[in-house]
Amino acid sequence: MKAYVFSAPGKMVWKDIPEPETGEPYGAILSPVALSCCTSDVHTVFGGGKPKQTMHVLGHECVARVIKTGAYVKDFKVGDVVAVPAITPDWRATDSQEGCERHAIEHFSGHRLGRTMPGVFAEYFSVLDADTTLAHIPNGVTIKQALMCVDVMTTGLTGAEYAEIQTGDTVCVIGIGPVGLMAIAGAVHMGASRVIAIGSRAKCVEMAGIYGASDILSYKEGNIAERVLEMTDGKGADSVIIAGGGDNVFTQAIDMVKYGKGVVSNINYYGGEGYLAFPKFSGGRGMAGKTVHTELAKGGRARIERMLKMVQYGRIDPEPLITHTFYGLKNVEKALLLTKEKPEDLIKTAVIIDEVNL
Ligand code: NDP
Ligand code: ZN
Repeated sequence: MKAYVFSAPGKMVWKDIPEPETGEPYGAILSPVALSCCTSDVHTVFGGGKPKQTMHVLGHECVARVIKTGAYVKDFKVGDVVAVPAITPDWRATDSQEGCERHAIEHFSGHRLGRTMPGVFAEYFSVLDADTTLAHIPNGVTIKQALMCVDVMTTGLTGAEYAEIQTGDTVCVIGIGPVGLMAIAGAVHMGASRVIAIGSRAKCVEMAGIYGASDILSYKEGNIAERVLEMTDGKGADSVIIAGGGDNVFTQAIDMVKYGKGVVSNINYYGGEGYLAFPKFSGGRGMAGKTVHTELAKGGRARIERMLKMVQYGRIDPEPLITHTFYGLKNVEKALLLTKEKPEDLIKTAVIIDEVNL
């Protein structure tokens, strides 16, 4: 079968590889119906840092059709079209039973597809445990909506959840790519009053307003921490969600969050080596009462089925995030390069492989 693989830093190639075999009694083989490329795929191919495994199938954002199921799979059958979570924890691990499912047994173990297992940019791929991984798509939810649930929506909402938002809070969202936009939608749902969104590209700015931002700042026009402090009478935001930017945003987030109860919720990826700077002064010399969370997106079946319910009942519609649609597996290449280039009008891509009506 054809697969799109990471061959060397900065390089991807199409490769013929053997089709996956079920083998696993709880597992399933699937074939992608729709795919999307993630900023994390761009980091894998073009980012620095630790050397990544080469000749590895990329991709972890997918809606797919079940092609074959293992003998013990109960809830899914051949032909079902399902949402495949980007994060697929091993729910049988005892660490998962302790609430540590995204890092059970080893760091980042929940991020398997396209990382420690072959990813979804192929004609077929497999999951190890269908019943705890795959998500049923409810009636009325489109393929594109489901595709946006598997990673960006759950990640943005993870950011909002760890921001510990209380009704009426002022929340700052740094970064308004697809993840930050879903963090804005999440913050609004959790009760934020004022949402200060930080980004610059026109399409993202427009969508930030639609998802609920009350103020928009460009990080290209002055120091964002100073601006947020000015806008909040020197007090700072109750919560800051970091969903974009380089190492300096981590420091700026601590600068701009409130003393005594401020929460910084980071879902952003920091490439390379070294350290993130904790500012001594705005950090109260270690005594400011500011909390920092650093989180991988929540994943697995139950989580994605919750995201799909938010869509089904009209709470959040993530489909408008898709600004560029391609057709055919081959075009995943174009979609990935576009995700790297980030033109002014891009938020998120979709690659439709098999048009189905749910
Ligand atoms: P995008 O690259 O699409 O968006 C990044 C946003 O950050 C843009 O709005 C960009 O502004 C803004 N930005 C860039 N530089 C700065 C800066 N110096 N200060 C403030 N804002 C800045 O990314 P995604 O939305 O796809 O993903 C966001 C992050 O989340 C990435 O790091 C990604 O790897 C990570 N991620 C994490 C996951 C997790 O599990 N925790 C899962 C998925 C993604 P502009 O408008 O100018 O482009
Ligand atoms: Zn991703």
